[in-house]
Amino acid sequence: MAAKTLQPIDSMKFPRFSQPATFFRTPLCLEGTGPGGAPLDIAVIGVPFDFQTNRPGARHGPAQIREMSRLIRRHSASGGPSPFDLCNIADAGDAPVIPLDIKRSIDEIAAFCAELDARGSMLLAAGGDHGATYPIWKGIHRGEKWGVIHFDSHPDTYHSFWGDRHNHGTLLRAGIEEGMIDPKRVISIGIRGTRFALDDRAFNKKTGMRVVTMDDFERMGRDRVIREIRRVVGRGPTYVTFDVDGLDPAYCIGTGAPEPGGIMMRDALVMLRSLKGLNIVGADVCEVSPPLDPSGHTALNAANLMFELLCVMAEARVRREPPARRPTRRSRRRAK
Ligand code: MN
Repeated sequence: MAAKTLQPIDSMKFPRFSQPATFFRTPLCLEGTGPGGAPLDIAVIGVPFDFQTNRPGARHGPAQIREMSRLIRRHSASGGPSPFDLCNIADAGDAPVIPLDIKRSIDEIAAFCAELDARGSMLLAAGGDHGATYPIWKGIHRGEKWGVIHFDSHPDTYHSFWGDRHNHGTLLRAGIEEGMIDPKRVISIGIRGTRFALDDRAFNKKTGMRVVTMDDFERMGRDRVIREIRRVVGRGPTYVTFDVDGLDPAYCIGTGAPEPGGIMMRDALVMLRSLKGLNIVGADVCEVSPPLDPSGHTALNAANLMFELLCVMAEARVRREPPARRPTRRSRRRAK
């Protein structure tokens, strides 16, 4: 396999505590391109947006996830090729946000993502609160409706909060109502917690979204949930969004709206690895709030979730656009 130009800092040369922190120690490419203007196959970005949360702090998520991602190595624990051998991957910096201005922030984030997408980069994002996902979709969605694999404790299908449709609890509904997402290809996993009203999930039901509550998860077991994820999203383009509050609070004490009785980190890693072979178009991990967990434990878990996503994304990317083959003798003769 031809070596990719962009490689993470070699931790055998520079110990993990040295050098500035970037996502997975990849090169920082703030222009959104590699050396000589070469496009990035996968751009890892931060979206430091948390202007809608009860307990804010997720704006610091990207910085702490970068810091904790120093601990990530080249290969998934489950084996398989390193994403850094399959794709050129870089840290493309943070999307611009305007503190306290939700509408302008949404436009700025969407424009930033649209530019990377236009250059041919797939996006893997670190939030930010879950309101970061909608502007990413706005920026990069085109054509066919997407399926969504949504790990979360909350349904994120509320209509609005305080008269504002843009909120970290409305993204799936907004995506569906604006024609970006096909509700029949959406699966939410880990749903639980107290509700505002008994009909909180009426929209999910009405539109045919699949909801796997924690009670369902327990009944079904992990393997059946994995089969259900693959059945619901099928072969079409699919976005993965992981709200860390889907995890049990034991693994994500640093998040704005924790709900007891959630997904174990072990199950989360295995579920993400099982997405191999799906047509993944982009992904994010949201709601890490460093002020609520200065130890960095939540951010370390988020970095590991992001890395498993990076592995399946790199594989999906290569499958969609295989790297140019070295010319054979016959193809060279034909070209003459
Ligand atoms: Mn959420």
